[in-house]
Amino acid sequence: MIDRVYLDYAATTPVDPRVLEVMLPYFNEIYGNPSSVHQFGQPAESAVEDAREVVAGVLNCEPAEVFFTSCGSESDNLALRGVGFVRQKQGKKILVTSKLEHHAVSKTAEQLRDHFGFTIFWLDADQGGIILPEQVDRALSDQVALVSLMYANNEIGTINPVAGIAEVCHQRGIPFHTDAVQAAGYLPVEVGSLGVDLLSLGGHKLYGPKGVGALYVRKGTPLLPHLTGGSQERGLRAGTHNVPLIVGFAEALKLAAAERDQRILHVRPMRDRILGSVLEEIPDTKITGHPENRLPNHASFVFKGVDGNLLLMLLDADGFACSSGSACKTGSPEPSEVLSGLDLSPEWALGSLRVTLGSATTSDQVTRFLSVLPGLVQRARSLGN
Ligand SMILES: *Cc1c(COP(=O)(O)O)cnc(C)c1O
Repeated sequence: MIDRVYLDYAATTPVDPRVLEVMLPYFNEIYGNPSSVHQFGQPAESAVEDAREVVAGVLNCEPAEVFFTSCGSESDNLALRGVGFVRQKQGKKILVTSKLEHHAVSKTAEQLRDHFGFTIFWLDADQGGIILPEQVDRALSDQVALVSLMYANNEIGTINPVAGIAEVCHQRGIPFHTDAVQAAGYLPVEVGSLGVDLLSLGGHKLYGPKGVGALYVRKGTPLLPHLTGGSQERGLRAGTHNVPLIVGFAEALKLAAAERDQRILHVRPMRDRILGSVLEEIPDTKITGHPENRLPNHASFVFKGVDGNLLLMLLDADGFACSSGSACKTGSPEPSEVLSGLDLSPEWALGSLRVTLGSATTSDQVTRFLSVLPGLVQRARSLGN
């Protein structure tokens, strides 16, 4: 039996045992509906409101500005549709975003364009995947409904200058949303310093449970609910609260904020070793994303003339779970929109590899990974040609 190594923490993380422990009573002991007035509902309601305060503490905002959702994708959807539809009524129909966004943003923007009368202004990133405030500024006009640009990129790890972007948006009175689902595990998310109006979070990228997230909405930001029904979440998001998941999400976010420095110290040296070694040992290799301004647990590459999916399969067969940016389908490989957005030609962009580290990663695992990767890249190159 091989000892499997997980190097795909950007895809998802295991639930921290401390998080699991605080969730468990809310599945079957404290099972009341938080919206019920009786003694079964009350402790459930307290749990949700305590969780909201914890999240607000990390974001440094009012609890009333935190809305729980079913995932990071839903938070992104709520931000775009919710603000978009209100602003459209005021004659503002342009969405400013980029092709480097997670699909939860870019596909939502495309649906708003194709079916709801919006237009999209796609911003181009620089070579490192960064979008600059000056570029955003040039795209702004009185018709812009919303700007949505991610805090840190899941595929290439690049960190955007969110505070600067928020500033140019505010000079024009335009709401700014950022997807911080990937960033929140390692970067500060105080919304005051970031200056954002809306910020998406998700549980399972930071050792919390899957199927829960939150959207921060600055007081006064126009937002139409997209789930209508009960009056949960102050009428902005109907549906009985998922109490155990909300409790777990808040605990996970609290731990991420409290242990941020230690977590960075754990992963960054190993990540730097991967970046350095891969560039040195493997010919025709480039780092994707920004070389320094990137998430501390995130390494990503393209190898010229390599089938990225084949490389992933070879790695998996050797016990290493990594990811590729490209959404290859057999027969018609297409590079990912993020890598195409970085102006990489297909012969480079199809050979992508993302290696993301986390709590259980050890230096020994990284050493073993680095000892097999050059040979596997070579094999993928010879098999592909
Ligand atoms: C994972 C991720 C999402 C989606 O979050 P889910 O909770 O899986 O829906 C959105 N944006 C980014 C940047 C992500 O990494």
